[in-house]
Amino acid sequence: MSSETAASRRGVLLVISSPSGAGKTSLSRRLIADHPELALSVSATTRAPRPGELDGREYHFVDVAAFQKLVNEDAFLEWAEVHEHRYGTPRAPIMQALSVGRDVLFDIDWQGAAAIASRASADTVRVFILPPSMKALAERLHSRAQDAEDVIARRLGRAKGEIAKWADYDYVIVNDDFERAYFELHAIYRAERLRRVRNPWIEVVVAQLMNEEP
Ligand code: 5GP
Repeated sequence: MSSETAASRRGVLLVISSPSGAGKTSLSRRLIADHPELALSVSATTRAPRPGELDGREYHFVDVAAFQKLVNEDAFLEWAEVHEHRYGTPRAPIMQALSVGRDVLFDIDWQGAAAIASRASADTVRVFILPPSMKALAERLHSRAQDAEDVIARRLGRAKGEIAKWADYDYVIVNDDFERAYFELHAIYRAERLRRVRNPWIEVVVAQLMNEEP
């Protein structure tokens, strides 16, 4: 039995951050694949696509002028400069997803996480993914072979600045084993969905129970 309807549920805004290469994208993709009710927020960015990335899937790839136009039109819920490029969260798809009772997953940096949390604190759940070591992080960035050496060096240089923000997050997962890290992320999401405040429809179930004779 479930009286749950889209209108009687408050969506979760699940924000996942980590330094580049700690595995947040793989973890996010798996969570999305396993949960059709969870929509991925696809950001706009001015950086060039990496090999294998598709416009509209990983990002909406735009030039600086088009990005600025979106900023001027107030089309972003938040935007930030990361690794010398701009990244922004389009507002309209988020509002649309929430209005039909879906949850939204954001793969964004600490600046974006802070902006979303300050705008919707009761609905936002922030998860930080840590690498098991800096060596493992460097190995992952090299092994995915998507970025040039100087880009990798810059990303590694910034990793500690990103890690320093860990205490702003509700949950922290050490990704030393993908399956375990995924199990933990999955558990966080499931538990957050079950919070009483996100499920006002439970009042109806309780009222029915109170009216029933055994
Ligand atoms: P990458 O270039 O490796 O895909 O992403 C670089 C960083 O930008 C990552 O930490 C990623 O989470 C972050 N990022 C991606 N999209 C957004 C966004 O819309 N807003 C913010 N604030 N950060 C983003």
